[in-house]
Amino acid sequence: MEETIFDKILAGTIPSAKVYEDEDVLAFRDVNPQAPTHVLVIPKKRAVNFTELKDRDEEEVGRFFQKAARVADKLGLDEEGYRVVINSGRHGQQTVAYLHAHILGGRQMNWPPG
Ligand code: 5GP
Repeated sequence: MEETIFDKILAGTIPSAKVYEDEDVLAFRDVNPQAPTHVLVIPKKRAVNFTELKDRDEEEVGRFFQKAARVADKLGLDEEGYRVVINSGRHGQQTVAYLHAHILGGRQMNWPPG
């Protein structure tokens, strides 16, 4: 499987602005932020996209989402709210083939998404 930029961030071979790390996830700031707060959360156990989660252990999947919620809390976004986005596959416009949840906050979001 081809190494992605997020594999390299996880391995520490390219730098990132880390906001949280534990045994399950790494969270770091998006290099091209689309909101005042824009953080990416990735599972340490690699998944290519959201679809792969259908075959994963329930606890592992649950932990990923729980940790993402804790990251949003840690970022101080709970009171005003925020958006969690997972782009999956080509039509989802996923550009990095390593599952990641975007946490976007600090401004009013719009709907529908583009
Ligand atoms: P996607 O389009 O796959 O859902 O999101 C990929 C995200 O990764 C984009 O928001 C993009 O700005 C971000 N990104 C791409 N390369 C890097 C990088 O080297 N470092 C960081 N921190 N973010 C990156």
